[in-house]
Amino acid sequence: MQTYKSTSANETITIATELGKKLRGGEIIAYKGDLGAGKTTFTRGLAIGMGLDDDVSSPTFSIVNEYHKNGCLSLYHFDMYRILDSFALESTGFFDYISDTSVIAIEWSENIESVLEEFNIITISLEGIGDERIITIAGDEYFC
Ligand code: ADP
Ligand code: MG
Repeated sequence: MQTYKSTSANETITIATELGKKLRGGEIIAYKGDLGAGKTTFTRGLAIGMGLDDDVSSPTFSIVNEYHKNGCLSLYHFDMYRILDSFALESTGFFDYISDTSVIAIEWSENIESVLEEFNIITISLEGIGDERIITIAGDEYFC
């Protein structure tokens, strides 16, 4: 488990970029953190680290935003805020997106916690007020 202190959105992006560079495909990243905690901002950094475009925006209405580029892993960025049961989850196609050549990042992962128990996941918690965030990354030990 690693803990970071961030004092700006840019610092959070830098931390996320470093993680994004280490991703090898097949990772499922589950965020924990309230509205405005920085989940989407962190995902922007992941995309940069993965070599993808940095124009990451919230998937609140689309449920999933996809980022693809030749030669890079694909990133699937989910917002599970309105996904409240297994039927709703199934209808997002969530399970079909999991592959060795993709990375999945999930906002409001709390809503599908019981499903995620069956997978090896990286949990990223963001907490704090103002511009300060404590970012805890757990489950990434296998990168060492
Ligand atoms: P979430 O997806 O968790 O709702 P966003 O990433 O959309 O959060 O928004 C986070 C907001 O907080 C942005 O406006 C960002 O600029 C601001 N912010 C301020 N300080 C930080 C920080 N240290 N890390 C991340 N975001 C920060
Ligand atoms: Mg968000």
